[in-house]
Amino acid sequence: MNNWQRNTHNTLKGADSCNAFFKTRQFKDQNFPLKIPLEFASLIDKDDPNDPLLKQVISAETPKRCIKPGFSIEPLGDGDNAPVAGLIHKYPNRVLLIASRVCAIHCQYCFRQNFNYSEHDAISNWQAIEGYIRTHPHINEVILSGGDPLSLSDEKLQVLMNGIADISHIDTLRLHTRSAVATPSRITTELVKILNETRLSVVLVTHVNHANELSDEFAKAIQQLGKVTLLNQSVLLRGVNDSVSVLSALSLRLFELGILPYYLHLLDKVSGSEHFLVSDKSAVKLHKELGKKLSGYLVPRLVRDENREAKTWL
Ligand code: SF4
Repeated sequence: MNNWQRNTHNTLKGADSCNAFFKTRQFKDQNFPLKIPLEFASLIDKDDPNDPLLKQVISAETPKRCIKPGFSIEPLGDGDNAPVAGLIHKYPNRVLLIASRVCAIHCQYCFRQNFNYSEHDAISNWQAIEGYIRTHPHINEVILSGGDPLSLSDEKLQVLMNGIADISHIDTLRLHTRSAVATPSRITTELVKILNETRLSVVLVTHVNHANELSDEFAKAIQQLGKVTLLNQSVLLRGVNDSVSVLSALSLRLFELGILPYYLHLLDKVSGSEHFLVSDKSAVKLHKELGKKLSGYLVPRLVRDENREAKTWL
């Protein structure tokens, strides 16, 4: 068992284990179950009820959920864009594979928290997926998502990547992952080798929302990735990162680590995440202010995911 696999067992799951770890606050079991790896939990200030990392992994305090219009169980309807189970095709040149149903951490704003993963498993449906991609030669990029593709073992990831690399018209592989920052021990020597030895151009898109998530362990791990292109996407979350100072600190630190801020997503309106919502007007204002403070390449694009497209704002 790899070190990172051992570490995935070092994860707080459910209210009881969180109560035992944090001591300073009372957790309750949640609709989207509490799941916090110790590597991430150790970055949380136990005495601060407003810690920006803590807020991302617990649901709203209010006993009754305040359901706002426009929020729903599955805001993006990903399944509607799946011509083959486990493959989502929204854009002509690229497809997204649901590579794993597992995540190292449960983010309470996650738009896929109610996704029907059992019907969309790219690994078990690989034959049909491969057939689909081979008959669509204009597809040149495959995105591995989930869940989190880095929750796969190195061996499974290697097999999947080999299958993708065998398709001659695919030249780019993108991995969307929150594991890299939530459990930096996941960046194993073996993983680094796999990502560097493939013939594909590899883009690793981390998911970091606040500079406090960028631990020394993450900084060390990410430096090993060699020729892999590093980008970051964040979700704009009220009370977590909805200020110019927090977002600029995040961009500057990411850049120090060789990661370009790529997307700042408006919240996908999944039920239970209402308290995270930043209004469109405030988001645009904040983004403009950020643009005045930072060099252009440090300002992530403000986008909203739509059912059919990711729309850029400005
Ligand atoms: S790691 Fe990603 S897919 Fe998993 S819960 Fe968090 S946002 Fe959702």
